[in-house]
Amino acid sequence: MQLNRGTFPGMFGGTGLPEAMKRPLQIYGSPSLRRKARRVAEVDREVRKLASDMLDTMHLENGIGLAAEQVGADIALCVVDIPPQYDRGPSGRRINPGLRMPLVLINPRIADSSAQTVVAEEGCLSFPGIYVPIRRAAEIKVQYLSLENEPTDILCRGLLARAIQHEVDHLDGILLIDHMPVLRRLLLSPRLLQLKRIASQDGST
Ligand SMILES: [Zn+2]
Repeated sequence: MQLNRGTFPGMFGGTGLPEAMKRPLQIYGSPSLRRKARRVAEVDREVRKLASDMLDTMHLENGIGLAAEQVGADIALCVVDIPPQYDRGPSGRRINPGLRMPLVLINPRIADSSAQTVVAEEGCLSFPGIYVPIRRAAEIKVQYLSLENEPTDILCRGLLARAIQHEVDHLDGILLIDHMPVLRRLLLSPRLLQLKRIASQDGST
């Protein structure tokens, strides 16, 4: 997931990381984005390497969340990193004080969602330049396997809850535009076609 630079200034300064560990991003139109992720049986070196490369890729691209499909991998793994300044409520208090970023979630499953929902704008690294208001549960309980192979469950609120719902969608092959009303999707169709063309050119090189 990505935030709109206009709405969330001050977090897009680059990371200074070497480009070497960056994996190529899959843009809308890539078949990889519609695949359903395969569950990870055990976290091994290959899975850890993918997680580490995905964190580098996400940071280099100024994202706050990234799913394996977005770098062409087909396993149920996503990474999320919410900057501390965006994990604060109106009173300035941290929204998810007990959680350390970044999070690597393997086989994530949303076990419970609050009835209360919130609408906010979301972007996606696979849809450059497109931002869409999406209604999501305000609070979720997520179960996943940690990088240490430990079954873990956490309660998330705020932007973190939104980012995890966005990434879990990716692992099910569900994309940002699937949440858009038909009319809005029609209005965006020239831009979507343009992205598809870019994706097909990338695929042919
Ligand atoms: Zn996304």
